[in-house]
Amino acid sequence: MVQSIDVDGDRNTITRETGARKAADAAGADEAGYDSRRTLHRTASLKIPPVEPGVVGPCPVAPDALQGIKRQQTNPARWNGAAWPAFVAELRAAGVEVAESAATRGIFATDAGGTAYGMPHGVVVARSAVQVSALLKAAQAHRVPVTVRGGGLTTEGESVAYGGVLLDMTGMSRVLKIDAAGLTVRTEAGIYWHGLAEELRREGLDYLSAPLNMTSSVGGTLGVGGIDVNSARLGCSADQALALQVVTPTGEIVECSDSENAELFQRVILGYGQFGVITEATLRVRPYTPLSMHYYYYSSLSTAIEDLQMLDRNDASDYSGILTIMDCAVNLLVAFDSAEREAAFRANWEGRLRGYGEFGFALCMAGHYALRPWRIGEALYLLRRKQAVFPEFRRPEFHREGRMEDRTVVFSRAVWKHWGSRNMVIPDLATPADKFVEAVERGNAVCRKYFRHYTLYCVGIRLRPEHKPHYEMSCVPPGTEGWAYGCEFEPMIEGEVYSRDHFQSFKNAIYDIGVDMGASYYRFGGMMKGYIRRVFGDALVDRHLAMKRKADPAMILNRDVIF
Ligand SMILES: Cc1cc2nc3c(=O)[nH]c(=O)nc-3n(C[C@H](O)[C@H](O)[C@H](O)COP(=O)(O)OP(=O)(O)OC[C@H]3O[C@@H](n4cnc5c(N)ncnc54)[C@H](O)[C@@H]3O)c2cc1C
Repeated sequence: MVQSIDVDGDRNTITRETGARKAADAAGADEAGYDSRRTLHRTASLKIPPVEPGVVGPCPVAPDALQGIKRQQTNPARWNGAAWPAFVAELRAAGVEVAESAATRGIFATDAGGTAYGMPHGVVVARSAVQVSALLKAAQAHRVPVTVRGGGLTTEGESVAYGGVLLDMTGMSRVLKIDAAGLTVRTEAGIYWHGLAEELRREGLDYLSAPLNMTSSVGGTLGVGGIDVNSARLGCSADQALALQVVTPTGEIVECSDSENAELFQRVILGYGQFGVITEATLRVRPYTPLSMHYYYYSSLSTAIEDLQMLDRNDASDYSGILTIMDCAVNLLVAFDSAEREAAFRANWEGRLRGYGEFGFALCMAGHYALRPWRIGEALYLLRRKQAVFPEFRRPEFHREGRMEDRTVVFSRAVWKHWGSRNMVIPDLATPADKFVEAVERGNAVCRKYFRHYTLYCVGIRLRPEHKPHYEMSCVPPGTEGWAYGCEFEPMIEGEVYSRDHFQSFKNAIYDIGVDMGASYYRFGGMMKGYIRRVFGDALVDRHLAMKRKADPAMILNRDVIF
């Protein structure tokens, strides 16, 4: 449908061809809708009201929507700072320190994505739940936006403040209590996972699952999901939370779990920071074990995915995932915590895998490219990449007696060294198991179109039926049972300069696949706010919006992320 747009004050007036045509025809207008005096007829026009904070407007990102200029827009509008001086005065009187120097504020100007930029009016480093409570109470009274930030590993600017307060949670990073017998830990939520791992390791313990990077925080991760290579077996990081201390948007300090204040718990877990600031968390932990890793190589994405899903369905390994170099070299990794599980895999499942060993795969690739000499550039790239990346996964300092000592360190180093760049653009899709091959193949075609080189990372997420209420409006696709599968589509930037428009068009193309397939978003890197209605539908979004309005009357907490 063809549309035209006019800016009328600060209101957009959109004309849809069907309605406009009749009016234009009646006035003797030409094909473009203009009459002899070149006046554009807009009789049957659609008024788009100005969007207040906390209003999720009509879908602005449909591919055919001219108001869809938002498809290309990463930064939201900046808060105008009206009540800032009075707000700061109130906080200072209450003993809350607010840093306003440009140097401090500038530290938080962007996130890991490096495409969204914003400056807070001031920064508060979280020190205690009582202090966070005072901050939120004053923010409600003065209607000052508060953006919470853990490690700042979002890629769509969700942890960037466009004015207002940036609340830096890393000031709350202490482990409070380890219960080695009960296998739980109570920790402040600003701690990075590797800091938590260090303390647990001294007790012979480990966390269950966490993102494969060093600098995401516990609180930020419980809000977005958290996927590890053992998520196909253990679920996501958010599933490991037993209880939380939360400061609600109106400043109440509340303990919540599935049995205490359950509704708040359900909304805060996987809630993208909309319903409260997580200040403490009780997590399940487990005895620490080094792991033994196996790699299988494929040239077909769909075959590798089918094998991955076969292993997951049969609980054949403790860790599983797929990491690729474009769609040419597809690596299925499986790993084990114990010699017994490894032996059972070798006896029952390894023979069913259709992948090759390293040598077999090298021969296969040599044959493939010998018949396609015009693709020699691609072959050389694969070889260079293999030579650079493979040793990273086998560094002797992280291995003892053939077993990997710390998967998080190994993977995190590799991620930042060989994938990291000034821009991290990581759109992702999550689907039920049966739609996953199609989603990955379609996403792969988009990557090929937009970038010379890229990588895909696929893992399963075991869903817990009893956690269904936690998953509502999250990265877990609605109605999915058993396992959800997620794929991250990550271009290799390799020092090239791409416009923000190019990155955004790429992300839109991936997100559009998700909408088309009824998928959700894995939320490695977040999802553009504009897609919320297209993905989840009006009924669900409006229900959550009503809950948000009730919980956060001034709509101050993380306002640019979802609502
Ligand atoms: C290179 C790279 C690799 C990654 N690898 C993985 C991976 O393997 N697995 C995976 O799951 N993800 C991965 N991610 C995504 C990232 O780990 C998650 O987004 C992450 O867990 C977020 O943690 P964070 O502390 O950085 O949160 P932030 O980015 O700081 O915040 C995330 C969201 O939560 C809110 N928030 C933060 N802290 C709190 C709090 N205490 N209370 C309430 N709301 C809060 C923020 O406002 C924001 O909306 C990766 C990202 C990058 C850039």
